Amino acid sequence: MNAPFPNWLQNGQRHIWLPYTQMKTAGQPLSVARTQGHQIELTDGRVLVDGIASWWTACHGYNHPHIARAVRAQLECMPHVMFGGLVHEPALTLAQRLCALLGPGLDRAFFTESGSVSVEVALKMAMQYWFNQGQTQRRRIVAFRGGYHGDTFATMAVCDPGVDMHTAFEGVIAPQDLHELPLDEARTETLDRWLRTHADQVAAILVEPLVQGAGGMRMHEPAVLARLRSLADRHGILLIFDEIFTGFGRTGTLFAFEQAGVRPDIITLSKALTGGTLPLAATVASQRVFDGFWSDDPSHALMHGPTYMGNALACAAALASLDLFESEPRLAQVQAIGHLLRDGLAPCETLPHVREVRVKGAIGAVELNEAPDLIALRHAFLEAGVWIRPFGRTVYLTPAFTTPPEAIRRLTDAISTVLATLPG
Ligand code: PLP
Repeated sequence: MNAPFPNWLQNGQRHIWLPYTQMKTAGQPLSVARTQGHQIELTDGRVLVDGIASWWTACHGYNHPHIARAVRAQLECMPHVMFGGLVHEPALTLAQRLCALLGPGLDRAFFTESGSVSVEVALKMAMQYWFNQGQTQRRRIVAFRGGYHGDTFATMAVCDPGVDMHTAFEGVIAPQDLHELPLDEARTETLDRWLRTHADQVAAILVEPLVQGAGGMRMHEPAVLARLRSLADRHGILLIFDEIFTGFGRTGTLFAFEQAGVRPDIITLSKALTGGTLPLAATVASQRVFDGFWSDDPSHALMHGPTYMGNALACAAALASLDLFESEPRLAQVQAIGHLLRDGLAPCETLPHVREVRVKGAIGAVELNEAPDLIALRHAFLEAGVWIRPFGRTVYLTPAFTTPPEAIRRLTDAISTVLATLPG
């Protein structure tokens, strides 16, 4: 049995700074001893059913032996080597396999170590693509209300998370163009009209396809993506899909864009890319975008290169994760979880505080009318033995695809029970 309050926790927590956390009021953080499958075991012995899959990464559940074996084998041979001037099999094989999965038109993978940085790279690719052709005025990015693309400076500029995340940096963040998603003809016409007068200054349109995740699990129809593709084509601008959240099965298809039958010029991937084991991201571009950098002029090269890019351990984990999508029935599991989420969250629809219940793939979201007391709500979920971390007005589930039905039911029961007790 572990000590409920181990030394490392007592000593270390005076020196740690946690994300998205008011350290003064947040109270004691939960400390984790180990993870397994769909469970998180705390150092005090409690075992929680995980509803979040560690910020949507651990799609195969925790500690999948196939990924663990691949990482161990890679560690023996080469954990990392710089990617400047050197390449290696895991990174090249991963690039080739990712491009094969993405299909024609997404042909060149650039690896980084986080989602935000992969979006930064996508934005740099789009702007420099035009710059290299002498169109130096194309600096603007069309992004959307409710979107989230990261916490670095360029990505904060294209975010609208709906909660107070980036206000402290107003005035420093480059102003970008936030629009309403073209959910209907009228909004499509509004965006079209704006593009008619501004398109020559725009490098790209950037969108999270089908689900805006951190902005509140807001879902839209695949037709929206088709409209964006035709607007981008009509106005001669690039289209970027940020599939950092939606990629690798989360919305029911391996990539969300498959449901729309349209393809982006650049796509960003991360999170479930390594099955929740090691940090890795990829920005994959079309041959056309890549060709925009192909030149005898050294200044036309993409000037980006994080120290740990193409990390061999992370690439080995990603390759093993891709194996699992081939050898285990992940998309069928996503579909089954979708049914369970729909059934299990249905009772929430009649609760007085609930505005809407939404399900897409293995994502279930309950949107409340007003922001609840998040600390109290999170505490109530812990009491129920589940790890659910609502934000803003949204209580959501994004479980591992391998989560068994009875555990999904624990999660949905916890949500409907806890929300039913919310003070009116
Ligand atoms: N883009 C999307 C759609 C995301 O959901 C996130 C993270 O939640 C990011 C980008 C940023 O990724 P990271 O946290 O790895 O920097």
